[in-house]
Amino acid sequence: MRDLDALDRADPLRGFRERFTVPKDIVYLDGNSLGGLPRATAARVADVVEREWGEGLIRSWNQAAWIDLPRRVGDKIARLIGARAGEVIVADSTSVNLFKALSGALGLRRDRRVILTEEDNFPTDLYIAEGVAALLGAELRRVAVDAIEDAMDDRVAVVSLTHVSYRTGRMHDLMRITKRAQAAGALMLWDLAHSAGAMPVDLDGCGADLAVGCGYKYLNGGPGAPAFLFVAERHQAAFRSPLSGWMGHAEPFAFAPGYRAAEGIARALVGTPPILSLAALEVGVDLALEADLGDVRAKSEALGETFITLVEGDCAGLGLRLASPRDPKQRGSQVCFAHDEGYAIMQALIARGVIGDFRAPDILRFGFAPLYVRFADVGHAVRHLREVLQHREWDRPEFKRRATVT
Ligand SMILES: *Cc1c(COP(=O)(O)O)cnc(C)c1O
Repeated sequence: MRDLDALDRADPLRGFRERFTVPKDIVYLDGNSLGGLPRATAARVADVVEREWGEGLIRSWNQAAWIDLPRRVGDKIARLIGARAGEVIVADSTSVNLFKALSGALGLRRDRRVILTEEDNFPTDLYIAEGVAALLGAELRRVAVDAIEDAMDDRVAVVSLTHVSYRTGRMHDLMRITKRAQAAGALMLWDLAHSAGAMPVDLDGCGADLAVGCGYKYLNGGPGAPAFLFVAERHQAAFRSPLSGWMGHAEPFAFAPGYRAAEGIARALVGTPPILSLAALEVGVDLALEADLGDVRAKSEALGETFITLVEGDCAGLGLRLASPRDPKQRGSQVCFAHDEGYAIMQALIARGVIGDFRAPDILRFGFAPLYVRFADVGHAVRHLREVLQHREWDRPEFKRRATVT
């Protein structure tokens, strides 16, 4: 077996782990679902609460520049996803931003009425597309992942895909698919929920039209952190948000009776921004900006490789099937194994302090957040997984009871 501690000692990102409060004795492999807590977050949020809110009260909208936060944090996220300042805004949830982006895309391609997506896309991406299609009289076309490119005909207004599959970790070729969609006359909308902060992404380099993503996964913004929306600069003047709220107005504080969209990305805002959540998100984003995303990606690939090698060696014959692409170039920052008793196995692992998650019907999902996951953690996780399987430790009623959130 490789010397995992040696890999940790040689890791250029090793200094980042102590910037997070990972509990002792916990191996946290679920940062792709809820990122870890940066050490600096509690103090920053306390300061916003006690000083900016408690003392500054309403003056803080100007004096503490609260009003600029959606744009300021958006500009920072832009640097992580290959966008320019002024192309990204932080607001609402990923679901709501998908609604804005898909509706806006249909408005930009009025002669076309089809939203094309992958049938295995993340459910909210499908549900929102279904809602937008019903509302705007469009058609939602859902096809198998390998049929996407063939389904790009001259009726498709927008191709909506998630860069890294939440279920298998399979990763699309951002550049090739964007070019294909645009060659077919469609706009390309990427969901970067499992990419932002986990790898270099170059939205402007591939000429993407629209994108959305999550603040609480690899950006470590905290539970329910606001999400982001990218609209390429060239589309902004014509982009119309269907949610014409006052924060997206050209002059919110003119209190004019009629809506007039703000210039630029600000037109995608809706209502009053959640300042406490934005402050927490900014800490996570600042931390991500300190890391070299090339190093982050290299470590992510190496963690995934190590995990697969160890599981296939140590857990051979115990019923696990690799459900992620074997080629690291086609995989995001997670590795999934399928097992018929996946749910109970994951509960037994969590009881041992190894936290991953389960995705129906049979996927054990292990996420590797390179800023705080160590190679040694991968070793511990595999040892626990082998023991749970070998001793059928999962075969207990308490591990089979489904919780509300899996
Ligand atoms: C996590 C995730 C979401 C979450 O959407 P919310 O509106 O923030 O709940 C959306 N899409 C994908 C692909 C995700 O992985």
